[in-house]
Amino acid sequence: MRKKQFKAESKKLLDMMINSIYTNKEIFIRELISNASDAIDKLYFKSLTDGNVGLSKDDFEIRIDVDKDKRSITVSDNGIGMTEDELESNLGTIAKSGSLNFKNENEDAKEKDIEVIGQFGVGFYSSFMVAKKVEVVSKAYGAETAYKWVSEGANGYSLSECEKENAGTVITLYLKDDTENENYSHFLEEYEISELVKKYSDYIRYPIRMEQTHSVPNPDKEGEYIDEVTLDTLNSMVPLWRKNKNEITDDEYNEFYKMKFMDYENPLKVIHFKSEGTATFDSLIYIPSKPPYDFYSKEYEKGLQLYTNGVLIMDKCSDLLPDYFSFVKGIVDSADLSLNISRETLQQDYQVRIIAKAIDKKIKSELKKMLNNDRENYEKFFSVFGVQLKWGVYSNYGAEKDGLKDLLMFKSSKENKYVTLKEYIDNMPENQEKIYYACGETPEKTALLPQTEAVKAKGFEVLYFTDDVDEFAIQMLMEYGGKSFANICKDDLNLASEDEKKALDEKNNSAKDMLDEMKSWLGDDVTAVKFSDSLGSHAVCLLSEGYVSLDMAKILNQMPGGNQGMKAQLVLEINGSHPVAEKLFKLFAQDKEALKKYTKILYNEARLVSGLEIENPTEFADMVTDLM
Ligand code: ADP
Ligand code: MG
Repeated sequence: MRKKQFKAESKKLLDMMINSIYTNKEIFIRELISNASDAIDKLYFKSLTDGNVGLSKDDFEIRIDVDKDKRSITVSDNGIGMTEDELESNLGTIAKSGSLNFKNENEDAKEKDIEVIGQFGVGFYSSFMVAKKVEVVSKAYGAETAYKWVSEGANGYSLSECEKENAGTVITLYLKDDTENENYSHFLEEYEISELVKKYSDYIRYPIRMEQTHSVPNPDKEGEYIDEVTLDTLNSMVPLWRKNKNEITDDEYNEFYKMKFMDYENPLKVIHFKSEGTATFDSLIYIPSKPPYDFYSKEYEKGLQLYTNGVLIMDKCSDLLPDYFSFVKGIVDSADLSLNISRETLQQDYQVRIIAKAIDKKIKSELKKMLNNDRENYEKFFSVFGVQLKWGVYSNYGAEKDGLKDLLMFKSSKENKYVTLKEYIDNMPENQEKIYYACGETPEKTALLPQTEAVKAKGFEVLYFTDDVDEFAIQMLMEYGGKSFANICKDDLNLASEDEKKALDEKNNSAKDMLDEMKSWLGDDVTAVKFSDSLGSHAVCLLSEGYVSLDMAKILNQMPGGNQGMKAQLVLEINGSHPVAEKLFKLFAQDKEALKKYTKILYNEARLVSGLEIENPTEFADMVTDLM
């Protein structure tokens, strides 16, 4: 027999379990059953292609036995089992839970720990919440020898050879003693176990059997009852997604989601639907309320669990979800797929493509319904995942834009609330021809742009584009409801009346010499310096011309390996009715050196207002100080 220590990280988790004040200790049973079911899945899967297994679907079972005298609960399965190495590596280290961060070393960490247990279930180790000793006897399929793993928690574990006839695993928990605050003995009650199995593991596809005592009429003596022990199957074995909607409570949907997809919050939306026709399948789709915990990591894989006739064939089938729904979780069960389908052949599988299409359509229509009937929830959804939809509009050269455009929302100048594009154009005054937008870091900053003020003053609504992708997506969209889009910091909005335009043209013509000279001092930084009458109370701003807007250039320049050095063509606009204009004319006549300084200061100011960095902040600061 060999004695071993747990790996450091596992030891921490283990300590956490042993000392856990987590109130929901009952989940240990669900974890053991889920492991047993996984192990049977593996052997069952093998049996379908390997005639030597010698077991058919009906032979598989999970057994639970309780022994009140020994204070033990045993969960057994006839699944794939574990070799000696597997016992060591699977139970001696944390598998999935290893990805959790145990950053908090201090006492406050207790609360956090509880959250962690609730969130992730933490698997096999949860046994130690209720057991003082855990024994695992396992024989791997195809192996000669069985092994026994025993641990009393913190002091490590021991491994030794032992006897076991068939492949599978038997896990025995020896319960802790009851204390004033904790009663562990109730886990030894048949009804308690049977309730827990129904609550957490009803859909497990193999029978979970336990001997139960029933009171039955005594056949020998009328009016009297005797105890009879029968081996009962505790679970209905119908996967949740195969049941009828009206048989399932919200709680069941939510619990199933949290356990299956490792979330601790309820999903934002449950979509349960059956499809019959070109593709026959059941699906249970969830929209999380927050991005999955690893969503922004490189390791994140999108996909739905794919079953055929109740047998899991792929954990994350990415072909079932478009990228813009990569946050969606769920299950698809179709009878039309072959068990031996591989990742490679799946991609070309006609059936999979049809299913994916149907799911995409369904999610979109459910989102549209939510948008129309449950606005609050939709806004919650959009604030978290809206950016994914916008990327969806932009990606693949806009191939998906038509299916997504009605789902988009932007904050706007009207009430700083979300509006859809449809709402925007429905609210447009008759004399408005384009959909106006402005880009900025936040709605608040965008609202403060000189151009926003000017357009608002004319009575028009401005959409605030605050995500990097917004303007790219909209360029892909090109129009909505027959209306094109206009960046109010870039495109000529044509808001001025004929008279106003004429006056401005005259002003610019008569100041041509001065403006040209100012432009020459700024070199390539701007393509022109002009007077403007649409700056509201502001002195200056930058306007971009051509295809690439200021904000797009900013984003393109930030992209790694992207279009570095991509420049927007900028025009420095000066407010013709601002006192500073007078001053410029004066300096042009009297003091060119000072005008040159003013020009540079105004240009840098304009950059700041547009949210751009100043190329030489020290020079700028010095010039401003000089003026003082
Ligand atoms: P998870 O199930 O998330 O992988 P667990 O802590 O529940 O994490 O289990 C760790 C590993 O131990 C499993 O992945 C599996 O390889 C192995 N294991 C646990 N229970 C069994 C069992 N009854 N039969 C076979 N292997 C098991
Ligand atoms: Mg597990």
